[in-house]
Order: sequence, then structure tokens, then C-alpha cells
Amino acid sequence: MNILFMGPPGAGKGTQAERIVEEFGIPHISTGDAFRLAMKQETPLGLKAKEYVDQGLLVPDEITNGIVKERLALDDCNKGFLLDGFPRTLQQAEALDVMLSELNRGIDRVVNLKVDRGLLLARLTGRRICKACGSTYHVMFNAPKQEGVCDKCGGELYQRSDDTEEKVGTRLDEYISKTAPLLDYYSGKGLLCEVDGEKEIDTVTSEIVSCLKGSL
Ligand SMILES: [Zn+2]
Repeated sequence: MNILFMGPPGAGKGTQAERIVEEFGIPHISTGDAFRLAMKQETPLGLKAKEYVDQGLLVPDEITNGIVKERLALDDCNKGFLLDGFPRTLQQAEALDVMLSELNRGIDRVVNLKVDRGLLLARLTGRRICKACGSTYHVMFNAPKQEGVCDKCGGELYQRSDDTEEKVGTRLDEYISKTAPLLDYYSGKGLLCEVDGEKEIDTVTSEIVSCLKGSL
């Protein structure tokens, strides 16, 4: 079973992806891991990607696509894979179709975890970190006993600058505007499985599983 996993930051994609790969016995392929592997093994594409990363530049699509293709060509993907974090744009989705057909593979299902923007904002802006010991808390889901104070060491809690409502909101809007065309693309192909990511973790997992099995 070849699966694509989509969902905005804060939707719980990582947790669900881990459960699904276990259920289906397939590898979890994230673009981040594929990049790290290519750079570590110093493949030609990995070395090229490293030049961009070292300069703090965005890696061009052509290199990203190549690295994903190399990863998908490995033997462990013969029985399937769960691809996470790719494609992010319509151009990448079209490139992925070409790559997969060259590898005699195709996508069986695209899972999209849907979570309301307001809830994502609450999840993503609630994180607090202890200045002294680095322990992390969440104002809604893992609140310290006393607001703003670390349970473990009494240190002061702070919010990372990346976690502010403004930064998170921008990140979410970017994600939504870039991926909306992708959802249309996969829906048009009859591959899209929309799952309500606001439910209990276990419920979300079983809804994803039944959607995936429904297509076998
Ligand atoms: Zn602390």
C-alpha cells in the first residue's frame, strides 16, 4: 500500500503516521529523513542538497524530487510506503506521478488530516519552555501546576518566538494556500481520504485505517 500523508502543522500527522506504518508494516518516509540519509551517504544529490542547506538556501525542486525518488526506489518500499511532507506543491505532485510510474509504482491513497485553523493555532501557540531546564509544557494539554513556572525546577517558562500567534498564523496560511490545489488534484483522481483530525487519537487512527483498507 502506497500512502501519502497530508495535514497542516499541529494536526498530529507524526503520531498518526507512526501508527499507520506499524499497522501496515511499511516504511515511514519523511523528506527530512530522506535528505539526511542522502547527505550522510554523500550521494551526488545529497552533496548538491548540502551545498544549498549549508548556505541557508532553499533546495530546488529538481534536487528534492531526485532525493525522494532515490528513497522510494529502495527495496524496503517494495511492499509499500508512507510518504510524509512531500509533495508540498502541485508541481511536486506531478513530478511524483512521473517518478512513481518510472518505478512502476503508484499512489493508492492520500490521507488528509483535517483540523480547524483555530484549534491548530491553540495547539501550536500553547507551548512553553523552561528557561532553566528546557522542560516543555502546553498551556492547554500539559499545563504546569503554577502558570509560568516549571514544575521540575521552579524556572521561568517562556514561549519560543516561532510559536507566537503571528508566526504560527503565517505558517498555517502558507500551508493552506499551497496545499489546497494538491487536495483538489488528488480528489480529482479519486484518491483522497479526508479524516477528521480533531477526534481522539485512537479514533483518528481507526478512521484512517478503515479508509485505507476500504481501498484494498
Ligand atoms: Zn525547569
